[in-house]
Amino acid sequence: MNGKGNEGRNQVQTSRPPSLPRQAWNLARALAEFVADGCRTVTAEEYRGRLEMCDACDERRGNRCMKCGCRLSLKARGRAFHCPLEKWVPIQSLC
Ligand code: SF4
Repeated sequence: MNGKGNEGRNQVQTSRPPSLPRQAWNLARALAEFVADGCRTVTAEEYRGRLEMCDACDERRGNRCMKCGCRLSLKARGRAFHCPLEKWVPIQSLC
């Protein structure tokens, strides 16, 4: 080994998204909660705050959460959606 350029190659990413049936169940349940909440979205500030938490989270892979399998850019918008690890700050805009 020359010691150059190997950073990252030996890192093993152990997190995997849930199985497809589990992802489908998570999506169906989240959408039902979103519709029941009137399809409301969070404020721009709340959205940014959620994604900042995801940025610092080990479960994030690109735009995806390995814990639930959801697309974070969409998931972070819905007021009824929640972080499976409860890392997001509770929403203040509940009117
Ligand atoms: S939704 Fe929660 S668990 Fe998933 S990446 Fe964001 S902070 Fe991490």
